[in-house]
Amino acid sequence: MTVVRDVPWSFDLDAFLSAAGVTDDAELEAEARRLASDAAPLLRPKAVYGSARVERLGGPDRWEVVLGGVTFESEILRCNLEGVERVYPYVATCGAELEGFDLSAYDYLAFYWLDEIKHTAVTQASAWLRRRVLEESAVPRLASMNPGSGDADVWPIAQQRQLFDLLAGATDEIGVRLTDSSLMVPNKTVSGVFFASETNYTNCKVCTRENCPNRRAKYDPERAMAGH
Ligand code: SF4
Repeated sequence: MTVVRDVPWSFDLDAFLSAAGVTDDAELEAEARRLASDAAPLLRPKAVYGSARVERLGGPDRWEVVLGGVTFESEILRCNLEGVERVYPYVATCGAELEGFDLSAYDYLAFYWLDEIKHTAVTQASAWLRRRVLEESAVPRLASMNPGSGDADVWPIAQQRQLFDLLAGATDEIGVRLTDSSLMVPNKTVSGVFFASETNYTNCKVCTRENCPNRRAKYDPERAMAGH
């Protein structure tokens, strides 16, 4: 397992102010600048990742997948891993440095601004990690599946526990934990498995959520039904 405690990232203040929607209000903008200059330098995005052999792919009676000795159950994961020998489980996080950050001295909107800063950090950490795994695995094209992303039954969020097992406790080393309902803390953390894919799989293709501002691909019912 590889643990990276200081994933490189950069904070673009102008982009943040624009995303926060404060640029037409001088007072609010000054407050957002103050929060950003206090909070952003504290963040240290982190990541953990590894490699696991695809040991077993189950059949239609039970869509079971065994990765590195850990069993998962998801029809779409099963279909995505047809012909794949190895997966790359991972967690990338904004870092836990702002978890106890005291917002009492800032505008009430600071809660959302802090989330925006953390979002920027985890987005960059996740992109950096994908590049790292691409380089090290020498796989031409990687796709990712993530427990809890898309429709609830695609890859149930409860299987975060197995994913964390697959990472052999290394998530503790980057300050990430699971709640009883399998949500990750810090909230701006992503987890999943990278795998070689020729089909350009994305979770959005099997997600029926309407009006999602983050949608990256059209819903593809054929793919959703067939799982491949
Ligand atoms: S459509 Fe939205 S909710 Fe669904 S998988 Fe894509 S980003 Fe996630």
